[in-house]
Amino acid sequence: MVSYSCSAPESGYTHPEPTRSRWQSSGSTTPTRESAGSVRPTSPGPSPSASARRVQADVDPDEAFRVARDELDGAAETADGNTNPGLVVAPGGPDAVPDEVAAFAREAMRDHHDIEDATALADDSGYRRAGWKNARGTIGALAAVGAWRAVPEWTYEYISYRHPDARGTPRDVDYDSVFAAADEAYPAAWDTVDRGEGQAVCVPRTPGPVLHGIRGDDPETVRAVADRIESEPIESTALFRTNQGTDAHLRDAALADARDGRSYRVDATVADPPATREGGHVFLTLEDGDAALDCAAFEPTKRFRDRVRALRADDRVTACGEVADGTLKLEKFAVRDLNETELVTPDCPDCGRSMESAGRDQGYRCRDCGTSADGKAERRVERDLDIGWYEVPPCARRHVAKPLVRGGFDAPTHPERQL
Ligand SMILES: [Zn+2]
Repeated sequence: MVSYSCSAPESGYTHPEPTRSRWQSSGSTTPTRESAGSVRPTSPGPSPSASARRVQADVDPDEAFRVARDELDGAAETADGNTNPGLVVAPGGPDAVPDEVAAFAREAMRDHHDIEDATALADDSGYRRAGWKNARGTIGALAAVGAWRAVPEWTYEYISYRHPDARGTPRDVDYDSVFAAADEAYPAAWDTVDRGEGQAVCVPRTPGPVLHGIRGDDPETVRAVADRIESEPIESTALFRTNQGTDAHLRDAALADARDGRSYRVDATVADPPATREGGHVFLTLEDGDAALDCAAFEPTKRFRDRVRALRADDRVTACGEVADGTLKLEKFAVRDLNETELVTPDCPDCGRSMESAGRDQGYRCRDCGTSADGKAERRVERDLDIGWYEVPPCARRHVAKPLVRGGFDAPTHPERQL
């Protein structure tokens, strides 16, 4: 089993009928994160994310190591500064992976690992390994070795690669065919397009060898979508088994325990209501007991911000996202309980006119009728939200985040329309 984590073109190492998997770790935005094997600038979608690949091959481990190392040598030379490839070759099949390596993979999806821990565990497990530059990719590579035993749910991505001489030029893809193929395969294939933004999410907008990457529930569907897309000539294709679209990065935690660099699912109450700030970013504060946490829906999350703005103080929610710089970046949230009342100045029960303040802490009274009230009255508020889950649109989704349309959520869902 050959596993490597690297952002460079991955078409190099091939073997007859290999089983490939592509595995996303918890890190997404900061290339300096320990859990991030490397930044993957070639990936479709909005944000580069750490990613590792595993190839299962029926070949002598020494020979596999030699071939893979030669390939990565070349890739490491040409890759950008944030690329720190790592290579791990494990003898035997994925089921033979020891518990410690499976646990390492499980933790890597939600937590940080040190490079020293990765190399020590790889050595203890008798694996061959190599690393380039700071070799942080070794973490992702080792995690990918254990992923088969660690990941409870797999999805698929079918990647089509450009001819080398076309790379760097604008991609020639017939967008009508992309949208038609996406319609036909939805929802078994997801995040292919974003109708709201008119975007073909499956086509990367960054330089790199990938022409398009189709994600979905099963190999047949993603392959069929790719086949229907009309485009420039394709050099090669590869089917990856992945943990994309599974929410593998999220952990349940109390609000008070949320820490930078990890992704959470937290139950909380809206404290400070949403406010839109410069740049169109929406901020709010959640609280749970004595703990408080700032939350944000940034401008690239587009129409999701309207759902966030619709929240009010005292709404009960479950919020999901990565915490960075003390702020939870919302990916999705569930409305658990809506605050459907507001406090208003009471009306006079006799004449129906609005009462007036009788002075500080003195309640209200009607001067004409002499009626009085102790305090404000409750009034029902029409809400623009329903109980259940809301999500960012496909154009803003992290690879590992689970689209609502995939199901399995604990409340009703309000999926972003992709069609
Ligand atoms: Zn009155």
